[in-house]
Amino acid sequence: MNKVRTRFAPSPTGYLHIGGLRTALYGFLYSKKHGGDFVLRIEDTDTARYVDGSVEIIYSTMRDSKIMYDEGPDVGGDYGPYIQSERKNIYKEYAEKLVELGGAYYCFCSPERIASLKDEEGNVRYDKHCLSLSKEEIARRIASGEPYVIRQNVPKEGAGTYNDLVYGEIKVDYKDIEDGILLKSDGMPTYNFANVIDDHLMGITHVIRGTEYLSSTPKYNLMYDAFGWERPEYIHLPPIMKDAQHKLSKRNGDASYEDFVKKGYVKEAIVNYIALLGWNPKTNQEKMSLDELIQNFSLEGIGKSPAIFDDVKCRWLSGEYIKEMSFEEFKQNALPFLKESKAYGKYDEDKLLSLVKGRIQIYSEIAEKIDFLEEFGEFDLSLFENQKQKASVELAKEILPKIKQALLLVEDWSNANLFDVLVKLSESLTVKKQAVLWIARIAITAKQATAGGATEIAELLGKEETIKRLDFAINLIG
Ligand code: GLU
Repeated sequence: MNKVRTRFAPSPTGYLHIGGLRTALYGFLYSKKHGGDFVLRIEDTDTARYVDGSVEIIYSTMRDSKIMYDEGPDVGGDYGPYIQSERKNIYKEYAEKLVELGGAYYCFCSPERIASLKDEEGNVRYDKHCLSLSKEEIARRIASGEPYVIRQNVPKEGAGTYNDLVYGEIKVDYKDIEDGILLKSDGMPTYNFANVIDDHLMGITHVIRGTEYLSSTPKYNLMYDAFGWERPEYIHLPPIMKDAQHKLSKRNGDASYEDFVKKGYVKEAIVNYIALLGWNPKTNQEKMSLDELIQNFSLEGIGKSPAIFDDVKCRWLSGEYIKEMSFEEFKQNALPFLKESKAYGKYDEDKLLSLVKGRIQIYSEIAEKIDFLEEFGEFDLSLFENQKQKASVELAKEILPKIKQALLLVEDWSNANLFDVLVKLSESLTVKKQAVLWIARIAITAKQATAGGATEIAELLGKEETIKRLDFAINLIG
């Protein structure tokens, strides 16, 4: 078997969509699993759709997500150039060859004539008018500088079949395929032509792309056959949907990899999650590193039905990565998000981060988890009421001064020590320890729900601030 070579062939039309990145990821995983090469090719022949800066986004996203290619425009390789607009001469040469082989023909029809071919529904279908031109006439018209395109010569009858490795046998009647343009009048190829030439010349063995190309593949196969080239294997991937009706699409402004990173999802979790969008590892293990994904990846696990992007699951995975991350790595990733919090700069950074590390799924939740530290002020005394914890306003009124006295004596102001002190206090008062901790926490945070327990928060606030807040609560309760 030839060495496996796969490619990712994005068009630089804006940001890199999650669906695009999944195509890249599967190409990467499949090639690496089989010890092969993964190629990046930029398909920029549709100049009208070109968006400045998007090639750089492709490079940076792939590096950042670690879906790294072995060959590509910015890393080189033996099969370049890897940018289609730099391969114009190659396409011209092969288009002319295909004409000689009977798989294509020159067409000089004017836009007006093409428009006149419209059917009742307004669809234009080329009528092979120029297929009958003589060689001499073609040569003369080209020499006189008349504009022309090269069209594919699709048989009028019969059908093209192939075996897609995900969707099985695909059959398309040739009568349903039009003689599409392969080379435009400006000499640029269309996608329909360039993908065939490049995949062949770049030695691509497995073409992995979205299902939108499932039914046009027979026309590409006609070209492989006309040139006498071996057809690649085809792996078409199901679409990724937002829900049962809506596709995740660039047009709807749906999320790109960058959007998720900005929202604070762990990068490895994003890649891990998109691997599962359309591929079932057939084990219970869902959290997988890139190496594990390479090991476990198989075409058999790819499903045919659309994959629904489940944000709840993606967040959950991100949270799992955060829990298992070293503190140092967490700190590095979380710092830009911590800076968004009102509490930033007012408390010990490491302590703030320890408070949230096990309590968030994505980094952007940090601020909301700790902002309470800076929002202290008057509060409704009914917050002290909690039947489950056996706490009440009366109890708070009775024990808050005692809590304050006990804490005033503490010298080693650490979470563990403070916890011991409050537990001992509860024993000496014969009050449930949950009640003491609840009342202490409400008094120093003025919030019903907070990240962290009373003593954890007291440690962060420091002795002076904690006592100040206790005094405030004691006054409030009167
Ligand atoms: N440039 C095409 C796209 O972005 C690539 C399709 C393919 O992989 O062949 O959809």
